[in-house]
Amino acid sequence: MSILKIAIQKSGRLSDSSRKLFDECGIRISNGAGTLKVVAGNFPAEILLLRDDDIPQYVEQQVADIGIVGENIVLETRKEVDILEQLGFGGCRLSLAIPKEENYTGPDYFMNKRVATSYPALLSDYFRSRNIRAEIEELSGSVEIAPGIGLAEAICDIVSSGSTLLTNGLKEVETVMKSQAVIIANRNISGPKREILEKLLFRIRAVKNASENKYILLNAPESAVPEICKILPGMKSPTVLPLAEEGWCSLHSVVREDEFWERIDRLRAAGAEGILVIPIEKMIV
Ligand code: ATP
Ligand code: ZN
Repeated sequence: MSILKIAIQKSGRLSDSSRKLFDECGIRISNGAGTLKVVAGNFPAEILLLRDDDIPQYVEQQVADIGIVGENIVLETRKEVDILEQLGFGGCRLSLAIPKEENYTGPDYFMNKRVATSYPALLSDYFRSRNIRAEIEELSGSVEIAPGIGLAEAICDIVSSGSTLLTNGLKEVETVMKSQAVIIANRNISGPKREILEKLLFRIRAVKNASENKYILLNAPESAVPEICKILPGMKSPTVLPLAEEGWCSLHSVVREDEFWERIDRLRAAGAEGILVIPIEKMIV
């Protein structure tokens, strides 16, 4: 019987969200403390627990068929894998930062400077595309302390809130790339494995759609319905149900999370009342 081998980060910033994703897809994986692999309870999959940096290589070599890893790692390692889906977690950016008292004049600032990073490939692409000659000092970790100890004059590192930079007396001045967790896949998955992969992607998309949308219910006078229908596009068009009170109805629809606040204001202005917004668990479009 075929089994899909899925690599995820063993422990770190992506592990909890990766496990939660499988849980929401109805795929049970035990916590596998101390082990390298766990077999899913009710889905033909085996989960390999690895260091994130190794995942692109293992997927390229088909030790794992697919993996969950940050785009930053995929692009830095330059492995031959396909990116199938962005997952909406693990958001961060690869940024250049300099000591906070320095006067930043634009990317030319880095001309002939020493820049410490764990992302030499992405950083040299960035400098090359801007014709900047700089010296790249490759470090495997704790990059943010490099300027303080005189190892480099600037750094290029992963940032999310920016608090690590601040505590090290640095300020962020350029974004080299934005990143989030993605599903990567080996390029030669076929036959029954491909079918398992499609089944998994179908579930992941349903979970992702659900998290990006909200179910909305509201009451409105009948006269306001045409205007409200224009504001609420929904998956098809809103459901309109009569209320017991003469001349009133209830409308149900789906709105995107990111459009939600702007639409709420317009709905209220159009006469909507008693607005309820409810999370959606799965959404199949
Ligand atoms: P491992 O032990 O697996 O090698 P790691 O220490 O290299 O782990 P983590 O710090 O757990 O890696 O980060 C994993 C991924 O999480 C990063 O590659 C990046 O895509 C994402 N990420 C999100 N926010 C941050 C952040 N503030 N700092 C670092 N990585 C972040
Ligand atoms: Zn790592």
